[in-house]
Formats: sequence, C-alpha cells, structure tokens
Amino acid sequence: MKLTDIGTIKELLGEEDTSFKKKFGQNFLINESVVRRIALECLPNGAESGKKCGILEIGPGIGTLTAKLCKAAKCVVCVEIDSTLIPLLNRTLAEFDNVKIISGDIMKLDLMSLIKESFFDCEYVAVAANLPYYITTPVIMKLLEAELPLSSITVMVQKEVADRLCSDSADRTYGAVTASVSFYAQVRKLFNVGAGNFIPAPKVDSAVIRFDLYKNPPFFVSDKALFFKVIKAAFAQRRKTLVNALSGGFSISKADAVRLVKECGFDEMIRGEALSPADFANIANRLSELQAVKQKNNKLL
Ligand code: SAM
Repeated sequence: MKLTDIGTIKELLGEEDTSFKKKFGQNFLINESVVRRIALECLPNGAESGKKCGILEIGPGIGTLTAKLCKAAKCVVCVEIDSTLIPLLNRTLAEFDNVKIISGDIMKLDLMSLIKESFFDCEYVAVAANLPYYITTPVIMKLLEAELPLSSITVMVQKEVADRLCSDSADRTYGAVTASVSFYAQVRKLFNVGAGNFIPAPKVDSAVIRFDLYKNPPFFVSDKALFFKVIKAAFAQRRKTLVNALSGGFSISKADAVRLVKECGFDEMIRGEALSPADFANIANRLSELQAVKQKNNKLL
C-alpha cells in the first residue's frame, strides 16, 4: 500500500467513513522522498544506529511517516488525537510489531512516564512529527520544558515559524521563543517543503527543523523561571528599552535597572531584541542577586 498516493489516501479515509479534519490541522504528506528524508533525519548518524532508537511520533495521520520510522527504528510510539484514524492506523501499520498506537491528545499526556515505559531499552530517544500548525509552539515548548530524556526533535512546521526558531539576535525574526528555546537545544533548518507536497495543500509553505537537545544548558542560569520572565518582559514591547522593561516588569527602580544593565556591559538604551540568549542569562542572574539583596534588606527592616 503506497500511503503517499492521493487515491489510496482518499480510499482509506472513505473506508473508515472519515475525511480530512481542518480542526486537527490534517494535511497529509504525499511526497515519498520528503517522508523518507524526515525519517532519516530522526535517526542518529545513519540507518544502522536506528536499531537502538526509540521514536515518539506526534500525529501519525494515516501512518505514512510512521511506517518508515518502524522500518528504521527499534520501536515507535505514535499519538493521534483523531479517534476515527485509529482503526485505519491499525490496518496500515499491521505488518509492524514494534509500534504502539495511542489514541489521545499530545498536550494532555504524561510524556515522561510514556517515554520511560516505552523506551527504557533504547539508547537514543527522538521525537518526529509533521506538526499541526495550530499547536506548533505549545507542543515544542511542552517537549522542551518537560526536560524529557530526548536526544533530538525533528519536526515539520510552518516556514515562518522555522525561520523564527532558527534565527539569532541580529535577525528581524528573532523573538522570545527563539531566545527561550536556545536554553534547551540547538535548532537547525534542514529543508523547505512546498505546500504542494500535502493533501489538502495548506495555504503556506513548511520547513523541517531539528532540535539537538543539550545535555547541559549552554550558559549558566541561576533562576530558570526568572530567565524566561526576563525574556518575556524584554519582548513584550519590542520598542521599549531593556531598562524600562526591567523596571516595569520586576519592581526595581529605574536607577537600579540602569546600573544592572551597565554592570552587565550594555548601553542603557539597549533594547531586549539586541541581546543574545547568553546575554539574557547574565541579566537574569544579576537581577536574581539584586532581588535577593532587596529581600534580605526588607527582612532586616
Ligand atoms: N503525520 C501525517 C503526515 O505527515 O502525513 C499527518 C500530519 S498532519 C499535519 C497532523 C496530524 O496530527 C493529524 O493526523 C492530526 O489529527 C494530528 N493531531 C492534531 N492535533 C493533535 C494533538 N493535540 N495530539 C495528537 N495528534 C494531533
């Protein structure tokens, strides 16, 4: 069965009395070479190493990418929200004994338990997905923030999102998500995928990106929550100076904010968008020290 064939896809959906659901972001891949390329990119250094690899796939659809992953990896777990696709997946993946199909919403699952139970004997655990556009960023942030034992995440996303995630502080597309994500992983764009490679064709082009997760953060952060809050505050109003964002968002005086920014080596007129993720870490670490001193002084009074 060729799952990238448009006639086959329509026939399969018809047999299960279902069709493409826009609300679940269902755009299925119809280009065999794109599917093969994504499957290869999920594996560590070539096909042989796949024998030690466990893959969590989000949104298998009719199982097009899943089937390729099953051939290459030790085991595959796929999570599909559309319950009408589960009987269809049971048929299209029937030949594989290394796949587990879960009916559910990826945003609601306890992924740490799932990974520990399913991939306990795998040396390398990766995520693969042609992500539905409506939850791209929440899914990526959930995977990263949960600090799961993952080596990589290879996902197809809207091209604009890919460009934003792969940008750096000099780029126009650099934003809060870019800076936050770089605490967890190095992100690379692998290749673009035009809208014509899907059925139904989406209105925008896509790109496949890969996150290689750090074993240890690339820079020191003393208070993680504060680090992310500083990034959020700095980008909440892009035109604001960093000094104003800090004094407005963290109940410190403007004079303290100016001192802090200068102590970290920046001009007091600098805007947050000019800061690299490591710069944000420096600012947040200094702010954390300042807050601790203030708290201590308040207690003494
Ligand atoms: N992997 C297939 C392919 O490449 O042809 C389908 C990709 S399609 C863009 C996205 C898939 O994710 C759909 O099958 C959709 O039903 C599923 N999906 C959407 N939201 C989901 C969620 N919250 N949890 C799990 N699956 C979801």
